[in-house]
Amino acid sequence: MTIKFTIMGCGSSFGVPRADGNWGKCDPYEKKNYRTRCSAMLSTTNMNILFDTSPDLRTQLLRESVKNINKVFISHEHGDQTHGINDLRIFYLKNQKKIDIFSSNNTKKYLKKNFSYCFKSTKSYPAILEFKKLKKIITFKGKNKIFIRPINVEHGEINCLAFVINNKCAYASDVSKFHIKDLKYLKNLKYLVIDCLRFTPHPSHYNLEQALNLIEKLKPKKAILTNMHSDLDYNYLLKILPKNVKPAYDGLSFNI
Ligand SMILES: [Zn+2]
Repeated sequence: MTIKFTIMGCGSSFGVPRADGNWGKCDPYEKKNYRTRCSAMLSTTNMNILFDTSPDLRTQLLRESVKNINKVFISHEHGDQTHGINDLRIFYLKNQKKIDIFSSNNTKKYLKKNFSYCFKSTKSYPAILEFKKLKKIITFKGKNKIFIRPINVEHGEINCLAFVINNKCAYASDVSKFHIKDLKYLKNLKYLVIDCLRFTPHPSHYNLEQALNLIEKLKPKKAILTNMHSDLDYNYLLKILPKNVKPAYDGLSFNI
């Protein structure tokens, strides 16, 4: 049995198209340009691990026919990674078991303050999530052993987490800088899923040039660009990118 990684959403904070219908430079007739807000999922025979609760989570879960969520990692507290948290309620109700959630302390504080009902039971509504300690490596046993290494990265003015899975795949959807000490965990991976917001520089995200420079340095077998804004058209990117680099699209999956 394999471990499957799915890009649930690969759009920037507004999504593509934006809520007002603007597609920017993306061809509206190319289905792969329809991008929901970023999240990803890791699946084995007995477990689904979700990375971030995008505001588009419900749509994403329906599209991928996801029947259960067992663990959740939140990369950072921004709305485009957290505001779909309410869609986890059904998985608590189905299993009558709180879902384990992992994040940094800052993100934990934000979530507990803004989504308190998810963590503290009230008379009518039980808590659905339970924070677990973010260790250096988090291991899940089963037929397919999974070990996840969270890495602190800079995301403009805040810190964010990137995740290295089984030393084979890294997921870094929101990053403006990696710390040099962590680059050793990111070298020569099978897959590197990396933030690539747009062509022009941005204070909180890699742009295309920065993402490509990093890919050249880290030498993954395959790199996948995510968190893409509406100036990055899928087919245009396919034409200009090096062979080992591909733009993500919603629903793209691969085996780790
Ligand atoms: Zn962010």
